Amino acid sequence: MVNVKYDSVEKRYGKTIAVEDIDLTVEDGEFAILLGPSGCGKTTTLRCLAGLTEPTNGTITIGDYDVTDVHPKNRNAAMVFQNFALYPHMTVRENIGYPLKVAGVDSDERAERVQETAEMLEIPELLDRDIDNLSGGQQQRVALGRAIIRRPSVFLMDEPLANLDAKLKLSMRSRIKVLQRELGITTLYVTHDQEEAMSLGDKLVVMNDGHIQQIGTPDEVYHEPENRFVAGFIGSPSMNFIDVEIDDSRTIQPTNAADGFDYRLESNVADRYREHEEFTLGVRPQYFTAHTTPVDNAIRGRVKVTEPQGDDQIIDVLVGDEDGDHIELTVKAPSTVEAVRGEDIWLTIDDPLVHGFDSRTGSRLADGDVSRTKAVDSRAQSPSD
Ligand code: ATP
Repeated sequence: MVNVKYDSVEKRYGKTIAVEDIDLTVEDGEFAILLGPSGCGKTTTLRCLAGLTEPTNGTITIGDYDVTDVHPKNRNAAMVFQNFALYPHMTVRENIGYPLKVAGVDSDERAERVQETAEMLEIPELLDRDIDNLSGGQQQRVALGRAIIRRPSVFLMDEPLANLDAKLKLSMRSRIKVLQRELGITTLYVTHDQEEAMSLGDKLVVMNDGHIQQIGTPDEVYHEPENRFVAGFIGSPSMNFIDVEIDDSRTIQPTNAADGFDYRLESNVADRYREHEEFTLGVRPQYFTAHTTPVDNAIRGRVKVTEPQGDDQIIDVLVGDEDGDHIELTVKAPSTVEAVRGEDIWLTIDDPLVHGFDSRTGSRLADGDVSRTKAVDSRAQSPSD
């Protein structure tokens, strides 16, 4: 069994703390994604496991072995980089077979395993080509081949799709997913692309500012974000955050008193937040419903910009006085909603799906036993929607 464990790992560069308090277990065969904005410490975390960066404190184990001080070569971890890092003067065959050559595997076995690996990646016809003559996607497959040929215990990938165009990215994404499942190799994968992370990972490790913010399945980090950072980082367009106060009649109002916002929450939703006079309301753009004529208990705003997206559109809505107190909301609505720039629009909220966050600490407020996954599922299945 090859699980990976980080125990209180920290890396400092002089006064800069690259990562701190990293406690993470990746189970045997699991596909874990390190996700977060640029500079949050993803690559440092990965490099500490590969042995390319030495942690200042903490321990790392692979399987039963403490590898914290073990030379990278002896960790049985293979890494794929964003820039592929192939040997330009070698053919595809030589590149893929190189780790076996270094390990002293004889040429017959090497030839067999290179062939088998190339077939797995569907590139056997490229084996005798020079690296320079390959497209980006083909080079990436060669890099994957070189990493998997020696069946490492751990597979490490640092933004391996970043240099590919959008279409190729999608096809390589599914190839990597299938390959990881087939080989069952414990994998850590770095990306700043939340869509890529959601589609690939069994487990997401969301990082910010050198710290892990949340570890969970894609569903958990999306539907039950532990704090405002995770809620805002996962999901596109981003969740709307509105600092509000709530009164005894369950009505919420922005703390900056932007005009037009009075909105009465359903009583069971209001009950979640009643003890907090002020909190930050989080609403994903698709959990608003946009109406072009007045409706009861709705937020009234004005259409600022519309952005068509095929079946849907993104509407930027201004609530209040643009030159005074106001808030701006991002709403995702079907393209059939006739939103016109400069005209009024009314928004209702799918109340059970909102989140509340502590305005000061950003932690998500308790919301009882609400299961958003179920709520979203039942919405999707409802024939009236
Ligand atoms: P990106 O997505 O941009 O690659 P990242 O999340 O992978 O970013 P890291 O590369 O791990 O982030 O960097 C984390 C922090 O550590 C950053 O503040 C970075 O400037 C700092 N850092 C990383 N490597 C070094 C180094 N060799 N010397 C000094 N500071 C470093």
